[in-house]
Formats: sequence, C-alpha cells, structure tokens
Amino acid sequence: MTLTPPELAPVDLLVAGASLVATVDDDRTEIKGGWVAVTDGRISGVGTPGTEPPARQRVDASGCLVTPGLVNTHHHMWQNLTRSYAPMTTADFLGWLGALYPLWATVREEDVYLSTRVALAELALGGCTTTSDHLYLQPPKAASLLDAQILAARESGLRLTATRGSVDRGQRDGSPMPDDMLEDVDDVLADCERVITAHHDTSPDAFVRIALGPHSVFGATTRLMTETAALATARDVRLHTHLSGDSSDEAYCLALHGMRPVEWFTSTGWLSDRSWVAHALCPSDEDVRVLGAAGVGVAQCATAGLLMGIGVAPIADLRAAGSPVGIAVDGSSNSDASSLWMEARMALIANRSRSGPAAFGARDVLEMATRDGARCLGRAGEIGQLSLGANADIAVWPIEGVRWAGAVTDPIEAWLRCGPNAPRDVYVGGRAVVASGQLVAGDLEGILSRHDAAARRIQQC
Ligand SMILES: [Zn+2]
Repeated sequence: MTLTPPELAPVDLLVAGASLVATVDDDRTEIKGGWVAVTDGRISGVGTPGTEPPARQRVDASGCLVTPGLVNTHHHMWQNLTRSYAPMTTADFLGWLGALYPLWATVREEDVYLSTRVALAELALGGCTTTSDHLYLQPPKAASLLDAQILAARESGLRLTATRGSVDRGQRDGSPMPDDMLEDVDDVLADCERVITAHHDTSPDAFVRIALGPHSVFGATTRLMTETAALATARDVRLHTHLSGDSSDEAYCLALHGMRPVEWFTSTGWLSDRSWVAHALCPSDEDVRVLGAAGVGVAQCATAGLLMGIGVAPIADLRAAGSPVGIAVDGSSNSDASSLWMEARMALIANRSRSGPAAFGARDVLEMATRDGARCLGRAGEIGQLSLGANADIAVWPIEGVRWAGAVTDPIEAWLRCGPNAPRDVYVGGRAVVASGQLVAGDLEGILSRHDAAARRIQQC
C-alpha cells in the first residue's frame, strides 16, 4: 500500500488516532494508530501516526476501530411493516410467505416510503452505508413503489441499489403469491426500462443504482427470467433473485421445469457475474463449482436461514469456488432485526458451525460485509474499502468499556466476538449519517409514529 504524504491543502475530514484502521484494501492493510483523510467525498489518504495532513474537520477516533462502511446485499424493507408477525412465527417458509402476502398486498407508496426510511435508519445505526433492496411487491397497473423508495433513500443519505422486483406466477400456477399481485411480463419490462432511465446512476459515487429482480422459481416464469436477463444486459444493470432459498426449491423446480434450480437459472441467461443471488442454501457440489466459475455473487442471510430452520449455506465452498459472498439482513419479517453488525456476527457463528473454526475468522466476515458485498453490487473499488479514490464511506466503532474489557490482542476478531457493538460515527461520502451514536437525518420520531400507524393498519390490529 502506498501511503499518501501530507498534502499542502487541508483535507475536508480527518478521522485520526484510531486504535486500528482496517482498510480492507487489496493488501488488507491494518494500521495501528492510523488515520483516514477525506476530500470531496473520496478517500484522499490513509496513513500511519505522525503523518496526518492538515484538516478542516478532525475527528478523534482514539479507542475506536475504523472500518469501511458495511454493505447490505439483500433486503425487503417493506417487511418491517409486519415484523415478528405473531400468527406466523411458527410457520414454515412457504406457510409464512402465503400468510403474509395478503397483508403485503395492501402496502402502498406511503408505506414503502416509511418502511424505507425506518430500514435505512436502522441500517445506518448498525454501520451500513450502502444497501440493496429487493422490492418485488408491485401491484399491477399501480404507481411504482420503487419511486417512493428511492425518494426515501435520497432523504436518508445512504447509497441504495434499488432492485425492481417482479412476480408473474401465482396461486393459479401453484405458487404462494396471490393472483391479484401478478404483473404482465410486458408491463414489468416497460417499468424496468422506465426506472433505469429515471434513476440509474452509473457514476462511481452514485447514490442510486437500479437492479432487476424476478422473485424466484416460485414467483417467476421462464419468460420473465429470460427477458429480464436480456434487458439487464442491454441496459448494463445488475440481476438479482432468490436461488435455493429453501430445500423445497429443488423438487419444485424439477417438477415445474424438469431441471434443478441452478440449471434453470443457467438456461434463462442468468449464469453471469452480472448476477447476485440471495441464500444459495442447498447447492450441490457441482452447483457451487458452476456458480463460482461464473462469478455469481451470493448474499448470505444467516439469521433468516437459522430462524426459519432452513439451514446454513456452504459459504466457505462458494468463496473458494470464486463467488463473491456478501452479508445480508434479509427482509424484516423473517430476520426481524436489521443490524449488519449482528448479521455479520451471526454469519461468523453460522459459518464456523458449518465449516469448522479454521474456515472462518472475523476478517473473513469483515471482507464479506465490505469489499465482497461491493462486488455483489457491481461496485468493487468504489465502496467497501478504505483506499485512495474510493468513496469515503466509513464506520467508527468504539472498542472500549465493559464489553471490551480484556480484549487487548486483536480488535478485528474482538469486533465480532465481543459486543453488542454499534458504530459511534458513520460517514457516507464523507458526510455524517450517524454522529455520536445518533441518526443525523431529521424527524425520526415523526417517521416512526407514521410507520406505527401504517403497520397497525396493514396487520389490522
Ligand atoms: Zn429475500
């Protein structure tokens, strides 16, 4: 790594005196007592003690671990309107989905706006600076809910990959999705074109990007998958779907298409490093090889898999095969909490449980939660690392006090073993979105009050 010499002109922001700066750069540089400089929203320097540049604003990070802002690779934000829905906490996955869909069918633009504001607040407070969302809830012929989500994201200050989801298989086809939620393929493609044109920002410091996301083998026809993949290639946007999200996927796909899920995924034009998928819970050894060789990204949703009793994906194998694997909180009705720190800790525990303690350490999970999440979203080098020219998305984590007492040898390993942890300060493009543990974006109380009313209306209680 090349350290930047102090500049003559003061930098905009200097985060200095950290116990440790974990850059997660190409060399995985870690600097005791290090500093990070920000100019015009980008990282303009990273260095050792005593080489700090002059700065307009200096933040004291003593007693703190400094990491890149975390990246969330799968979510369904509107589901925080039905968090921990009591009638379904004992249901299996398809029973849960079938019972909640009628409630979600009543979600409208205002609800999506509120749920996105709440989700982004919760994510920011957990150290997240970039998130994706898979918004497959789209009432046919209604105003696009995606526009309401993007408005909320722009007000929140976090980066968003907004995935325009779609569903065109329903109960009439043996799927749990209600028929009145189904869209026509031509309408889906036309709206995808529209939202790409309206919102997709290709610049390296983009705050909003668009991805395209048919739901799954349960909710998408072969035509929807195939034509969506072709459109994504033509417009150079990313593709996202659920793959092997439940052990029932395979039998369902074999009965429906005469092939296994990864074969169907491949046959529809999705086997590409343009794609990242949620879960990949039950791939065969050959599936792992095929996905890895193609560079298909995977979002690990460890808490959701464990809470729903559907297992832990073979993450060590997928990474070894070549797949970038990111961390994801998943929708807020089946993992309920949306702290990426908690999710990273759960991933550490789940992956060590599945693959053994030698297979995973906190550094592996930190990589997944930062630079590998960035790769999933097609943003390698732009976010997820503290290196020259990258966006200045930074999390500052206090590592002192009762919970850290005695953890004096390895702050990164302790970051996920001690806790619970939350960042003190979070910056996106050098602008604070969390300061002294508090959300910067205003009127959170007002948003929560309106969100509570919407949740009670939707759940009819
Ligand atoms: Zn999902």
